[in-house]
Amino acid sequence: MEELFREIVDQAKDESRTYLMEHECKAVLESLGISTTGAEVACSEDEAVEIAESIGYPVVLKILSPEVVHKSDAGGVKLDLKDAEEVKQSYGEIIRAFEDKDVMGVAVQNMAPQGVEVIVGVTRDPTFGPILMFGLGGVFVEVLKDVSFKVLPVDENDVEAMISEIKGHALLEGYRGASVDLQALKDLLLKISEMVTKYPEIEELDLNPVFLYPDGYSVVDARIFLDKEGVAPESAKVETDLRDLFYPRSIAVLGASDTPGKLGWNVFNNLLSHKFEGDLYPVNIKAETVQGVAAVPNISEVEGDVDVAIVLVPAAVTSMAVSEACKKGAKFAVVESAGFAEIGEGGKKIEKDILEAAKDGGCRVLGPNCSGIINTHHNMVQSIGVVDELGKGDIGLVAQAGVYAAGMLWGMRHTLDFGIVATIGNKLDINETDVLEFLGEDDNIGVVCMYLEDVKSGRRFIDIAREVVKKKPVIALKAGRTEAGKKAISSHTASLAGNDQIYDAVFRQSGIIRARNNNHMFSLAKAFSKQPLPPNDGVLVVSYAGSLGVATTDALYMNGLRLAELDEDAEDRLKEILPPYVGCHNPVDYTFDMNPNWVKGTIEIGLDSVDVGGFIVVLQAEILNSYVEPLKSIDYRGKPILTCVACKEFAMDDVIAMEQAGIPVFSTPETATEVMAEMYRHSLRAD
Ligand code: ADP
Ligand code: MG
Repeated sequence: MEELFREIVDQAKDESRTYLMEHECKAVLESLGISTTGAEVACSEDEAVEIAESIGYPVVLKILSPEVVHKSDAGGVKLDLKDAEEVKQSYGEIIRAFEDKDVMGVAVQNMAPQGVEVIVGVTRDPTFGPILMFGLGGVFVEVLKDVSFKVLPVDENDVEAMISEIKGHALLEGYRGASVDLQALKDLLLKISEMVTKYPEIEELDLNPVFLYPDGYSVVDARIFLDKEGVAPESAKVETDLRDLFYPRSIAVLGASDTPGKLGWNVFNNLLSHKFEGDLYPVNIKAETVQGVAAVPNISEVEGDVDVAIVLVPAAVTSMAVSEACKKGAKFAVVESAGFAEIGEGGKKIEKDILEAAKDGGCRVLGPNCSGIINTHHNMVQSIGVVDELGKGDIGLVAQAGVYAAGMLWGMRHTLDFGIVATIGNKLDINETDVLEFLGEDDNIGVVCMYLEDVKSGRRFIDIAREVVKKKPVIALKAGRTEAGKKAISSHTASLAGNDQIYDAVFRQSGIIRARNNNHMFSLAKAFSKQPLPPNDGVLVVSYAGSLGVATTDALYMNGLRLAELDEDAEDRLKEILPPYVGCHNPVDYTFDMNPNWVKGTIEIGLDSVDVGGFIVVLQAEILNSYVEPLKSIDYRGKPILTCVACKEFAMDDVIAMEQAGIPVFSTPETATEVMAEMYRHSLRAD
């Protein structure tokens, strides 16, 4: 294989081609043990007949030209030729149709019997490297775009998921008795993964179509595009212990200010008012004290050791400040100043200088253009905006945008308790994956949220996320969904692999839950943070209105959950506590009036049924406050409760009371149910 591939690639290079022709591709594939129809080159009518006779009729003739990528478009494919006469005639027709092209000859190959048509392809993404695509061929791919993607390399589980993820997968598993050899298909996908990972020269690949049979398959058409450089995407692997960044013993603030309104005032004030546990050193050229703390004009004059230097000086002098921080022995520079890559070329140049200064000085950089780190378990708030009191919670948040560390937090802190909020800004050095890895290991963190505009760390992101999701849920909100991936597109696969499809695949492959928007992300985080995971997929639904009970039930089944079966005696026990007009089965519907003690009693009876894995309770907004104490007092024994309250915006004080009691409140039964389903799915993923 090795030699054949090199030979073919070298020849293409000699001829300055970046496109391998069908017979070359098939030869490479065959050498890997992939079955194809084969293809032999004929340069005359007689030669074509000779090959046809030796491989046996019926045969297919196809144009062979480095200039023709889509062969059938202009009559370059002649199918089902049954004798020498037909071969001769077709040969002549093909040659005449492509008179103006550089024609090498005609490929003669076996006519493959019709099977289930699929497409297998590879494209390259600038961030994640090679991406494998699989889908049903023909109209399914052309019109319905029913394909699935995975970042390479893939394993057995990944290819199984690829096959089951397409909407038409039932067609593969047996439709009207016809089924295909799924094991052979998986082997094909794994072999393509191996080949493309091994040969970074392969820029794009299309096997379109492949015919699948009850026994085996055949690659009917193949094309490969080569990359001139053939460089593998670098894996951004850096090993640093980020512990001292998140739990520093001492912080120097370069640019700490005594003038209210300045960012340097805000940051220093946040550190003081939240009672940072370690030593704090304001550094200010002019001021002798900053907010009552003695200041020094230069970091070199700080008396103790410095773990973290927060840099808030103007962009132009940032690299110098980083340099000085390094000389002082700081392990991390948190650059909160703005005015870098986000403003253009000049800023990019400064970023390069910062990175160089940090590398030379042996420190790592967070930011620039970020809002630092909040760690409530370390009483540390480095935000640029003033932050009020925060509770200590287990939600970890990585955000590219600073607003999550102040503006958004201002509201969210009433119902959500964060552990760590890390803003990463322009990600000059420390990126989303580094932080994700740390949050994965930090025992104070139970759920990780990520707000991302892009991912810089490629394949490492997937590898780390896969490990983290075994321990705790990871929820990602990827902004810029609609951004069009503008790139030169040559293969079919590349044209289908939009930026958003790739991120979808990356998240799915990593086990990350993809959030649609902020509301969705924090709804999930809230439930994961406040409630245990459901031990099974059965749910007891309690509501005060029939329609909402029906809506919840529909939502359960649409999200892969179900109504739980109540134990035999549950009905009798419910009859004892509920009024006679209430039907004592799941969903329990009080019809119009929802007494808090009935709700408590119903849940307690439900808890005794093993099939009940969790509760969705639709509450009345008008008397929301009356449920707080009764619901809080229940011993849930590891089963989650999620509630919903229509128009909860108008009962915000009571919603806050409920959530502070640890019971999540959602606006609609659909949201509550969707969240419960994600909790259940995560329980299956977790170790
Ligand atoms: P194109 O360059 O236009 O994609 P293909 O080689 O895919 O050309 O041929 C066009 C169609 O002809 C295929 O989609 C397939 O249906 C049919 N075909 C091509 N080669 C064979 C073959 N060897 N056996 C059976 N059908 C074939
Ligand atoms: Mg084709």
